[in-house]
This record gives sequence, C-alpha cells and structure tokens, in this order.
Amino acid sequence: MKLDVRKLLTGECVRIPIDYTLESSALPVFDDVVFEPEVHVNGELTNNGGYMRLALLCSIAYDAICARCLKEVNDTININFEKTVCEEGDLQNTDNDDYVEINDGMLDIDEALIEDMILNFPLKIVCDENCMGLCPKCGKDLNSGSCSCVTKEIDPRLAPLLKFFDNDDGEN
Ligand SMILES: [Zn+2]
Ligand SMILES: [Zn+2]
Repeated sequence: MKLDVRKLLTGECVRIPIDYTLESSALPVFDDVVFEPEVHVNGELTNNGGYMRLALLCSIAYDAICARCLKEVNDTININFEKTVCEEGDLQNTDNDDYVEINDGMLDIDEALIEDMILNFPLKIVCDENCMGLCPKCGKDLNSGSCSCVTKEIDPRLAPLLKFFDNDDGEN
C-alpha cells in the first residue's frame, strides 16, 4: 500500500495510523514456502517536530518443508520495526536499511515491509533446531530413532584414513 503522507509533511496531522490487509501474492517468493493468503499489517507514521518515523508490525504465517527431515513446518515470521522517514532527495545513500523515503508525497509501506522481511526470513527452515534429519544412506527419519547404517564420527586427524577405507569399500 502507498500511504499519502502530505498532511504529515505540512503539519496538518502528526500521526497517521496504518491498518490494512496485504495480499500475500505481493510477498516475495521463497522456495517451498507458502504464505497465508492475507496478511494484516498494523503500524503508524509519526511526525515529531520534523522527525518522522514509520513503525510497522505484522505476523505472517507460512507452511514450509524442513530442510533436514522434509517434514511440513508451520511457522510465523514476525515483522516489527521502526525506521526514519526521509523526504524525497534527503537520502544520500538509498541502500541504507534504517531509512525509508517519501516519493511524490507517498510512502510505499509494502516496499518497506518486504525489504525487512527479506532481511529477516530464515535462510534455512527447520522443524526444530535439534532436528536430526534423514540418514543420508537409508533415508530413515533419525528423529524417530537411529538406523543400522554405519555412522562415522569424523575426527579431523582420522579423516584421511577414513577416506582411504571408503575408497577401498567402493572397489570391492
Ligand atoms: Zn526436521
Ligand atoms: Zn541409515
């Protein structure tokens, strides 16, 4: 959503409440992640003697696949930030994440939200920090118990030796 902030710039008001629904089709695409269809966004834009701030708050629920065991994961990303709002042309370095810029009297709220979301979205989604994942050999879910495959504790000093045995196995 683009918010008309001209009244805030002229001093006609000092606060603009933000309360809208964002279609999740506007959100960025992440592999194997499905967002809930609609996201409720809350926040406010304030002007405190020329110092403008944007505060945004929303929770986005999603379904994904655990990167280790491939189980379905249902989780939520919480977005909660405050950024300084700059008037057009005030911003020298537009890559600065702490600022958002007004264009033609409008502030693009969706853009600010999506930028923050991309920065904070987990690179790897797991069902649990301690998820054991699947055995690389037999594919058994190791969360439900170990399998009978030989697992090797890799001691870095022994690694070359293990490699030697592995090669030997392969040839026979
Ligand atoms: Zn898992
Ligand atoms: Zn196994």
